[in-house]
Amino acid sequence: MNHNIHDQIPVILPPAMLGMLGGGQLGRFFVIAAHEMGYKVTVLDPDTNSPAGKIADVHICAAFDDKAALLKLANTCEAISTEFENVPADSLSFLAETKPVRPSAYSVAIAQHRVSEKNFLKHAGLPVAPFEVINEVEDLPVDDSEIYPAILKVARFGYDGKGQVRVKNQHEAQLAFMQFEREECVLEKMLKLDYEVSVVLARDVHGNVATYPTSENSHLNGILDVSIAPARGRDAISHQAQKLAILVAEKLAYTGVLGVEFFVCNGELLVNEMAPRPHNSGHYTIDACVTNQFEQQVRAMTGLPLGSARQHSSAVMVNLLGDIWPADVTAAPIQLQPEWQHALNNPQLKMHLYGKQEARSGRKMGHFTVINVSRDEAIKQAMQIRTDLNIGE
Ligand code: ATP
Ligand code: MG
Repeated sequence: MNHNIHDQIPVILPPAMLGMLGGGQLGRFFVIAAHEMGYKVTVLDPDTNSPAGKIADVHICAAFDDKAALLKLANTCEAISTEFENVPADSLSFLAETKPVRPSAYSVAIAQHRVSEKNFLKHAGLPVAPFEVINEVEDLPVDDSEIYPAILKVARFGYDGKGQVRVKNQHEAQLAFMQFEREECVLEKMLKLDYEVSVVLARDVHGNVATYPTSENSHLNGILDVSIAPARGRDAISHQAQKLAILVAEKLAYTGVLGVEFFVCNGELLVNEMAPRPHNSGHYTIDACVTNQFEQQVRAMTGLPLGSARQHSSAVMVNLLGDIWPADVTAAPIQLQPEWQHALNNPQLKMHLYGKQEARSGRKMGHFTVINVSRDEAIKQAMQIRTDLNIGE
């Protein structure tokens, strides 16, 4: 039994101040959930315009490894969490000397490094795609290896398909490895996917788990595009994905919200990767579940029991990337916007825009979720609005 002294600490109740490392949209939804419950939030993020920093009670504008800033966070907050898996694990360990940090530095350290993540999953007995660890050019397999065609993925700081190159042979793999300046990489077999699913769950300080219905995800250019929840008509797969996600959380002795992404390949599940925080594919929980994933994050970090993860409506979430924003030729202070009127006319649609000032290609600017009693109807409406907004063109 692994005893953490902080788990003896009584439940942290409102109006306590909670600390959040990272000021992106996930942090912003955390702030909203915490405020709803009566907590205050301090966000640490280096960006003066960060979406979460702008609505937090306190915004410490500093780097994630700034000792003075971390000390201020530790001294003024009752518990700390993160929304960004690339926060240095050392910063989390440092904070944990003073206050409870959930999830732990250990869990975040594993999830933020593709090699430790793959090795952890493999050793925990979870199915993963065939891969090789690449530290130097000589580690790249020769042309007749079964691993090709493959994807070279840098071990650190990859997200939304960044830091990934598809390669057909050793030569292409060598060029890609050079492009990544010989940073440690994982070379993963390119699989023919049937489809992709993910599971978001929350695990409290006592080990109780609340699992959300499995969602079915499609990607565009390596970035999540559409999530359908619950996933369509493959109950056995959905159920198995939930079981595997719970196993991941248990093997990590995890406290907090965890997102686990899966490939479905020849009818079998393979774990793709995990995120030690709320997940984009779990945004549907904001509008379609009794307790959303951000409230679960608040509950897990404060030692409260988890809320019900029951889904009350079918949901289809569509990401809104910077690509659909009109080019701002005049460089006017107010960025031109997509034509929202039609989407906003739909009474079943919930719009979420993150308040980011600059729209760039591939940047997550917002999302919408269509909810309905009928999943087919939600899909039909969401896909129509997606087309009307010129998404994917
Ligand atoms: P994010 O953190 O946003 O999920 P990421 O940059 O960490 O993205 P991955 O999840 O590794 O990237 O890959 C992004 C997408 O690329 C996957 O969801 C999948 O659609 C595709 N992909 C990745 N690896 C493979 C593979 N081995 N075979 C086939 N498709 C893959
Ligand atoms: Mg991914």
